[in-house]
Formats: sequence, structure tokens, C-alpha cells
Amino acid sequence: MGCLFCNIIEKKIPGDIVYEDEHAVAFRDIRPVAPTHVLVVPRKHLAAIHDLTAEDALTVGNLFVVARKLADQLGLTAAGYRLVVNDGDAAGQTVHHIHVHLLGGRNLSWPPG
Ligand code: 5GP
Ligand code: ZN
Repeated sequence: MGCLFCNIIEKKIPGDIVYEDEHAVAFRDIRPVAPTHVLVVPRKHLAAIHDLTAEDALTVGNLFVVARKLADQLGLTAAGYRLVVNDGDAAGQTVHHIHVHLLGGRNLSWPPG
């Protein structure tokens, strides 16, 4: 079985990939909650924010740089967008491979549910 997002990154299962480089891959969420909903993930399997160490700083920081580039490419920057990371059960994390949700294309309420 293995990790779902590792399988998408390795193209063992299909994903609507919108960006990839040496360190990160981004693909569209299968159940989008906004007109644009992309998941930005590190190639390195890291299960959760609470597992990070200082060694992971560049890997995780890079996800935000990729998200910022994608926001430009996907036309979200002018209106604004949201980046979300769910960590653990109470936050609703369902896939245990770190991912940044890039959400845009509609007004997003605050606080989140
Ligand atoms: P989490 O709840 O862990 O923060 O986010 C996991 C996200 O992965 C959810 O938004 C869910 O819709 C998405 N997801 C679950 N399975 C798949 C899949 O097979 N492919 C894609 N592209 N997204 C998935
Ligand atoms: Zn993984």
C-alpha cells in the first residue's frame, strides 16, 4: 500500500500534477473545496509538522515558495489566497505526508470551521 502522496509523486497512481521540481510536487486536490485547490508536497516523505526537525527547514520552507509561484501562475495573487496545513486528528489531517493546501478563486471565511 504505502503512502498515497508518495505514490502520486512517483506516478504509481494518477494525479493532476501542475508543478514539479527536484524537491516538491503540486497536484490538484481530488475533492476541491475552492475553485482552485492544489496540494503542494515535498518529495521527501515527512508525515506531519510535529515530526519536523531543523534538518527539514529548507524542504518545508520551499513548499511556500512553490505555493507562491503557483498562486501567480494560477491567477490567484491579485485577489488573494490561503495556504493551510492540517496537523493531526483535531485539525482534520487525513493524509500523513505533509502538504500545503493552496486555496483560491473565492472569498474564504475566517475563522475556518
Ligand atoms: P488533509 O485532510 O490531510 O489536510 O488533506 C488531504 C487532502 O488530500 C484532502 O483535501 C483530500 O481531498 C485529498 N486527497 C485524498 N485522496 C486524494 C487522492 O487520491 N488524490 C488527490 N489528488 N487528492 C487526494
Ligand atoms: Zn509519503
